Amino acid sequence: MHWLDTIGVDIAMDFRANPATLANAIPRAIEENGSTMIADTTAITARRERAAEVGTVFDAVVVGAGFAGMYMLHRLRGLGFSARVFEAGSGVGGTWYWNRYPGARCDVESMQYSFSFSEKLDQEWNWSEKYAPQPEILSYANHVADRFDLRRHIVFDTRVIAATFDEAAKGWLIETDRGDKVAAKFCIMAVGCLSAPNRPNFRGLDDFRGPIYHTGEWPHQGVDFTGLRVGVVGTGSSAIQSIPIIAQQASALTVFQRTATWSVPAWNEKLTPEYLQAAKADYPALRAKARARPTGFYFPFNTKPALEANPDDREQQYEEAWARGGLPFLGTYGDLLFEKAANDTIADFARRKIRGIVKDPVTADLLCPDNVFGCKRLCVDTGYFETYNLPHVKLVDISRTPIERFTADGIEVDGVKYRLDAVVCATGFAAMTGSFDKITITGRAGLTLSEKWRAGPRAYLGIASAGFPNLFMITGPGSPSVLASMIQAIEQHVDWLADCMGHMRDIGAASIEPLAEDEDAWVEHVNEVSKVSLRSTCSSWYVGSNMPGRPRVFMPYIGGFPIYVQKCNEVMTGGFSGFVLEGAPVGNAAPEVRYTERWRVPLDIDVISPAAVAARRVPVV
Ligand code: FAD
Ligand code: NAP
Repeated sequence: MHWLDTIGVDIAMDFRANPATLANAIPRAIEENGSTMIADTTAITARRERAAEVGTVFDAVVVGAGFAGMYMLHRLRGLGFSARVFEAGSGVGGTWYWNRYPGARCDVESMQYSFSFSEKLDQEWNWSEKYAPQPEILSYANHVADRFDLRRHIVFDTRVIAATFDEAAKGWLIETDRGDKVAAKFCIMAVGCLSAPNRPNFRGLDDFRGPIYHTGEWPHQGVDFTGLRVGVVGTGSSAIQSIPIIAQQASALTVFQRTATWSVPAWNEKLTPEYLQAAKADYPALRAKARARPTGFYFPFNTKPALEANPDDREQQYEEAWARGGLPFLGTYGDLLFEKAANDTIADFARRKIRGIVKDPVTADLLCPDNVFGCKRLCVDTGYFETYNLPHVKLVDISRTPIERFTADGIEVDGVKYRLDAVVCATGFAAMTGSFDKITITGRAGLTLSEKWRAGPRAYLGIASAGFPNLFMITGPGSPSVLASMIQAIEQHVDWLADCMGHMRDIGAASIEPLAEDEDAWVEHVNEVSKVSLRSTCSSWYVGSNMPGRPRVFMPYIGGFPIYVQKCNEVMTGGFSGFVLEGAPVGNAAPEVRYTERWRVPLDIDVISPAAVAARRVPVV
């Protein structure tokens, strides 16, 4: 089967009649390495001709219509700002628009992995499962877009390719791949931390006759693997969610594993009307508790050290936490990500669990990670390890001998040929900075952001970067972002930015930009704090080392969400201290706080004081 046959008859025929159609339609698929990756087919059908928009001036342009771009738009409209959102996909939802692979779902409980800015929205939406599947999260994003009337400000199927600061106008010129050229005072990057797929350029990719999919750009009509010999490359979160489902369809499944993954059972379940009713009765309290937590979501955790626990009690605690499942497993003790000896206790427990599930001892050994437990992003699975007990599922270790090449009918490793009809690359993302890199962002004096970030990203609070006035980033590098429940992290940034932009209008400021010394101090602090955590010790996408050629820098802020929020609040109360406001007669005056009030939560200092961070006793997830 040719890969064209998998993307829908109309489109494939259209392409055969006019190859240029598809080449134009799927820049995500072919622009980077010329490989035959399948792209999103809705984008292909929906990418119709339209006149380019030239010369329009907006208060703000937002890049991306995931949860970040949507909420930013909502706040901008609430403040009466004119705004245009450009989105590369054909619909809203970002992550949940692109990642339609089988088994995709959230791993922060849905009651918390959702917007918290509207009590009415919280009350009217009903999640069906503890961890909602991708289609339901996408429906939720669409519901939010309709309910808050966002769509008419969003232009879909349009990728921003350049943003250039105009010194004279103190604003940004934004260009898209559809020929749009618009101007805006503010340019807000809501491009996502995990939105630029990592498509390794394996040798011989173009020789392979079957389809190759990336989990992050899954065809909209789904893929039927029935009766096929399927290969999956990668064993991160996307792989561990999709492998059990692909195994149910495929006649043979071969998983190519470079690094074994730590995973905890999800124990996903349907949410009953009674549960929903009870949870909603106390929803504001749950949201408030979540905001005070290092992870931005609430779960009971234990701050006591594992190393001080009696071994029998510790075993009992791990058993109980395993039985509850999910990311909170890492909260069993407070020192697990700080002390290697403590981490060894949980790693040892989890390895015994894997060996207890996987019957073949050789496969079980291969599946047991030898790195720090939770060092890479912890995975949450449903039946992942059990899948390797199926007779048609095989694990291939590529940790010492990498994939040699793709051939016409499979993958070759260490001289062994694995015959395959289809391949799934669950190979992750150029995390945190990948989507920035794809846009030519030019600030003062012709400096591009890519040049400035060559040795690693530099941003004050992960919100803005010196030399790039009025350019903001939502959950940018140097903010808790991916180490927090991301929708909370997004909302906190957006509320802060809305108050910042509202304040600038109030005082007539032309531009805002971080001071280089404050940015340097923050970047240094982010780096210093990361060293207290064992998380900085392995090769993960947190440090950019999942892909070759990227600088090794711990990118998210690991000091905990509330401590970070407190810093943001202080900066705001100080009239945006650490920033230069140009053209404002009152300088750094305290702003009117419109939206950030709900983030002014008292720190739960028993568990997350700065002293606790210094003493390495802050549980992080
Ligand atoms: P995204 O959702 O990535 O949206 C960014 C949007 O910007 C995309 O639609 C993209 O097309 C668009 N874009 C990028 N560049 C351009 C450009 N140049 N021009 C135009 N448009 C552009 N987080 C959690 O907290 N809990 C979870 O359970 C969880 N599960 C996840 C599961 C998967 C499979 C993945 C990949 C991530 C998951 N995450 C989770 C992280 C998730 O990315 C965030 O929770 C959240 O959805 C990010 O929203 P966002 O709007 O910031 O970015
Ligand atoms: P990932 O965690 O980065 O995993 C990518 C996998 O591909 C890893 O096993 C990696 O191996 C492997 N890989 C990458 N390049 C390779 C190469 N050249 N050759 C062989 N193997 C290669 O990516 P992901 O699974 O898409 O997840 C990314 C993040 O998205 C997650 O950490 C999580 O934050 C989020 N996510 C969440 C969920 C959820 O449960 N809600 C689901 C999916 C994603 P190495 O480990 O050796 O690099």
